[in-house]
Amino acid sequence: MVLYDRFGRPLLHLRITVTHRCNYKCIYCHMEGEGGFSSLELTPQEIYYVAKAAYNLDIRRFKLTGGEPLVRDDIVEIVSKIASLKPLDLAITTNGYYLVDYANDLVKAGLKRVNINLPALDHEVYKAITGVDGLDRVLEGIEKARRAGLNPIKLNYVYLKGVNEGELWRILNYTKEKGLILQVIELEPVGIPEKTFKQLYKSVNDIEKEFSRRAVKTIRRKYMHYRPQYHLPDGSIVEIVKSHCNPQFCKHCTRLRLTANGSFRTCLLRDKPYINITSILRNKSLSEEEIVEKIKEVIVRANILREPYYR
Ligand code: SAM
Repeated sequence: MVLYDRFGRPLLHLRITVTHRCNYKCIYCHMEGEGGFSSLELTPQEIYYVAKAAYNLDIRRFKLTGGEPLVRDDIVEIVSKIASLKPLDLAITTNGYYLVDYANDLVKAGLKRVNINLPALDHEVYKAITGVDGLDRVLEGIEKARRAGLNPIKLNYVYLKGVNEGELWRILNYTKEKGLILQVIELEPVGIPEKTFKQLYKSVNDIEKEFSRRAVKTIRRKYMHYRPQYHLPDGSIVEIVKSHCNPQFCKHCTRLRLTANGSFRTCLLRDKPYINITSILRNKSLSEEEIVEKIKEVIVRANILREPYYR
């Protein structure tokens, strides 16, 4: 039976940060709101226990994130273990740099789809944003992911004032050509200094109006924060992800988060609660069933603490 919180929101997704390590240094990175770097990581088996507990509570959609999930050399094993539960969705958010190496193995392990961070198609702009001259490798990775059968492939384009505004239409053309979906993401004031946020933030409202005007069909993604998906006359598809000061986004949040170092969090924007479960996961006197049962109890408690940030 699906869990509902005190605000009537179902709990359907678990977003799992598998590491804080990253090979990129994106100027806007929110680090999933997890604050300072932690070198502690859960093992594939520990992540599997959490996923199994979640699955048993009807949370059957999983997203792996980071840091950069593909810097973990056991990422295929993590995917394979979660996939063995036969989830409704299993996806990774990645900067794409290592997709060339991993795309085929990830698909064989059971990965269904991928989100790839693509803030620019201009080499200099890309490097200025990410700190890495990796655009060609990422484009190669996108090709590999397409050929491996990951579907849909979504490109994450975080809109940054004065930095990559001009890249939007170029990236949209690219997504159309390749049959991908573009996600235009509004910058969130998380994990970055206030000064940086003020410097880089620009509302995506005007972009949204333009897509809304052009769209031949608009779909509201009910269990994805009610975000709009615009289908344009030329066949391209764009989603707008706008969480900043957006009560609709929070009203339709269906997520729980697991941090890299083994804590449940209820919201990207809230510092608390952090409910650590490593003492359960690493308790040698517990059987697998007992570990899973205890984690289920913690998820039920965490769910009660879920609360919309913007109302
Ligand atoms: N390294 C992976 C990547 O680059 O996608 C996964 C981690 S990253 C934190 C996950 C996604 O969060 C990125 O793809 C990016 O779209 C989004 N993101 C990061 N910082 C953000 C911010 N300050 N505001 C909005 N979205 C952000």
